[in-house]
Amino acid sequence: MSRINPLSLGPSDFEALMVSWGYKPFVARQILTWVFHHNVTDLDQMTNLSKSIRGDLAERLTLESMADVEVVPSGDSSATKFVLTLLDGKKIECVVLHEKAYNTLCVSSQCGCPVDCKFCLTGVVGFKRNLEVHEIIAQITVVQQRGFPITNLVFMGMGEPLLNYDNVFKAIDIITSEAGFHLSKRNITVSTSGYLAGIKRLIADQRAINLAFSVGNANPVKRARIMPIEGRNSIIDVAKTLHDYQSSHNRKLTLEYTLLHGQNDSEQDIKELANLAKYLNAKVNLINLNPHIRIPFKPVSSSQMAQARDWLKKLKVPVTIRFRRGQEISAACGQLGESHLAG
Ligand code: SAH
Ligand code: SF4
Repeated sequence: MSRINPLSLGPSDFEALMVSWGYKPFVARQILTWVFHHNVTDLDQMTNLSKSIRGDLAERLTLESMADVEVVPSGDSSATKFVLTLLDGKKIECVVLHEKAYNTLCVSSQCGCPVDCKFCLTGVVGFKRNLEVHEIIAQITVVQQRGFPITNLVFMGMGEPLLNYDNVFKAIDIITSEAGFHLSKRNITVSTSGYLAGIKRLIADQRAINLAFSVGNANPVKRARIMPIEGRNSIIDVAKTLHDYQSSHNRKLTLEYTLLHGQNDSEQDIKELANLAKYLNAKVNLINLNPHIRIPFKPVSSSQMAQARDWLKKLKVPVTIRFRRGQEISAACGQLGESHLAG
């Protein structure tokens, strides 16, 4: 009999399953408390359960999601990358970004990514498979077990979260629930390359979540050259749909703009980005390209980066520059995939 991972079920379904097996509901709650409040995933360590219950449950349940966990600290201690081997041997990565008062975890939603943006290493790796709910949640557990309490979550690791909609939002529901990590929804951001059907579903499901939209280039023709998703998900339609989405709730929208030397860094490019930001009432986050031998683009200089920021400021668009953290360990978001290329 294959064992069930309670972390893929959600608290109430797990409780119902346990009851159907003849257990009292509080046993399910005790197990979830161990996992979510104490980061314990070994049934044997759940000492308030009797030995016979633990023995019986060990045959029915498993709380393991990873076959191996490799920790890769960065030289400047600003980020810690985790290379995680899933139970089927496939690898994913997640990154803890250390802030002064809190830790943000950049999680993966897929193993690889099918979207194939030309500046992204995960795109180069290609698509392997969607992550299960428990594999998304376990990324938090694994880093917390190693001493990094997580307060903020960004879906900016490997994969396009809206292409794994069911599992990503089920995981978010569990992560934010009282029986789960009880993380605030306000501290979670889902980043998308602009998958229309996914954004439409957010509206239909009335899901209020902070979104980041990866623009690439605000001009449709230029965008199509670096982001093949533009073909069926034109930025004009995406912008309209995001506009509808924004009017239905009060969460934040950020435009992520990865600067590529000579591709999207001209004054005209930035003007088009500013128009989009104004239409969407969004702030812009400028990211310099993390270069890689497999990526056919170059980053911009720091003065070009400052120039882009100043153009945006002059056009009255709120703008921040994302510091390139953990670059020497390939840990910055958008550069995940090194572990796949190494072999
Ligand atoms: N698939 C989602 C989330 C993961 S990518 C998305 O595309 O939004 C997370 C962010 O990293 C995106 O904003 C993406 O544009 C950016 N990114 C991708 N490759 C990058 C690179 N080589 N250097 C810097 N940022 C990159
Ligand atoms: Fe996928 Fe995002 Fe990378 Fe594009 S930028 S290939 S959507 S992970």
